Amino acid sequence: MSESTLNLVYLAASVLFILGIKGMTHPKTAVGGNLISGIAMLAAIAVTIIFGNAHGIAIVLAGLVTGTLIGAILAVKVQMTRMPQMVALLNGFGGAASLLVAWSALIEGVVDVTAAGGSGVARADLAGTAVGSIQMTVATAASGLIGAVTFWGSLVAFAKLEEIKQFRKPVYLPVHQLINTALLLLALLLGAWIVWQPWHGVWVYFLLVVVASVLGVTLVLPIGGADMPVVIALLNSYSGLAAAATGFVINNNMLIIAGSLVGASGIILSEIMCRAMNRSLANVLFGRFGPAAGGPSADDVYGGRVKSTTPEEVAMLLEGARRVVIVPGYGMAVAQAQYAIRDLYNDLENRGTTVEFGIHPVAGRMPGHMNVLLAEVNIPYDRLKEMDEINSSFEQTDVVIVLGANDVVNPEARHNPNSPIAGMPILDVDKARTVVVIKRSLSPGFAGIPNPLFAMDNCLMLFGDGKKEVVALTEALKQQ
Ligand code: NDP
Repeated sequence: MSESTLNLVYLAASVLFILGIKGMTHPKTAVGGNLISGIAMLAAIAVTIIFGNAHGIAIVLAGLVTGTLIGAILAVKVQMTRMPQMVALLNGFGGAASLLVAWSALIEGVVDVTAAGGSGVARADLAGTAVGSIQMTVATAASGLIGAVTFWGSLVAFAKLEEIKQFRKPVYLPVHQLINTALLLLALLLGAWIVWQPWHGVWVYFLLVVVASVLGVTLVLPIGGADMPVVIALLNSYSGLAAAATGFVINNNMLIIAGSLVGASGIILSEIMCRAMNRSLANVLFGRFGPAAGGPSADDVYGGRVKSTTPEEVAMLLEGARRVVIVPGYGMAVAQAQYAIRDLYNDLENRGTTVEFGIHPVAGRMPGHMNVLLAEVNIPYDRLKEMDEINSSFEQTDVVIVLGANDVVNPEARHNPNSPIAGMPILDVDKARTVVVIKRSLSPGFAGIPNPLFAMDNCLMLFGDGKKEVVALTEALKQQ
């Protein structure tokens, strides 16, 4: 196969990637978009193997089969609620792979030439190797720096999402940002050294990776709670940038294009999520987030004002309702209550009630979490309304059912400038005539703060597991 055929297939695959991403912007076309991108990736891998099998096709195929097996088993086994952890690991391994490929190109270039030329190697001796030009040494250093930050940052993000005890709370070292700045400067200096004297590159690269690894850990350690989705999107972007840098190292156009696409889409997603929380990216990364010391306690907020209800009472309310909005949150995913909510939705629709779903951009634990679960049970897409679209209609809504959502309906975000979620746009469910909140207790959500909604006059709490209570509610409605 000639190099121009290879690049032609790469170009076609790149166009398909872009079409695939376009398809993924709407639920109706998302499956097709995913398939197109998969086919493009398969074509790119196939021509790469055919064209560049310098290390023998057997070793490449062995890697491919092992990776595919691990990926497929993980993808099938992982629970929906743990998908963000899986994405964190995927990002991390993407960063690590880029780092290792760049490193091996460096070793190949430097060690071979050093072995041939003895100790006095100059840049001219490296001409034609993977570290022969400034462009390639800059790209190698970038790949090591970004790849290591991505790998270790993603592992810490994984530990936080898994709620591993030592990582659950934000961890601040004394003069934390100063340490981060010093680590970054040191990593940049080591990168400059690789560019300046690539023949020392192999061990300097090792030092660079060590420093960048520590930086990856210290960057993510202090970020906690509700900010993890943004961090995951950002690390996704970094893994793309690392891949693009490695593409420059090994002169692979496909890697450069695919890496840039991932880098750009990850940063756009981070920006969209920041906007959904009314925060800047800098504030997410370097600001402190979490329950403020001295904030109101649960007793202050709830003391004697919370009213609990029963499925039968809620069924009576629903029977007289003309417009109902269901607001799902993380608890719906935990309870796997999407099938039960679909049955309730069908029942209400059959009675002539208008039912819509209010979807907050960061409800659940990953972008699009609620959309995925509701699509799984075939709720029509046109019934899923985004926050901006549905917020003005709550005042005309008879009953809102909040199913396992907490932070995304917390009015503190509007009222209390000292709240950790201050300014985060929320679903204004408190403006509806009646709000029914289904959850197991008065425990806080991800942000760890009490929710005054639960103590409002128009709010009723239906305590229990999301699935169990929705099934009971649907049964009670059928008895009406
Ligand atoms: P929250 O985390 O605020 O609240 C979820 C609620 O679900 C809890 O209060 C819990 O209450 C309840 N719950 C848990 N299990 C069940 C169950 N079996 N049945 C019924 N209820 C249950 O969720 P939201 O979706 O409102 O908000 C998402 C939060 O997570 C935001 O702060 C967001 O920033 C953050 N986040 C979002 C990500 C994303 O990409 N979407 C990723 C990571 C974090 P109880 O224990 O009393 O039942």
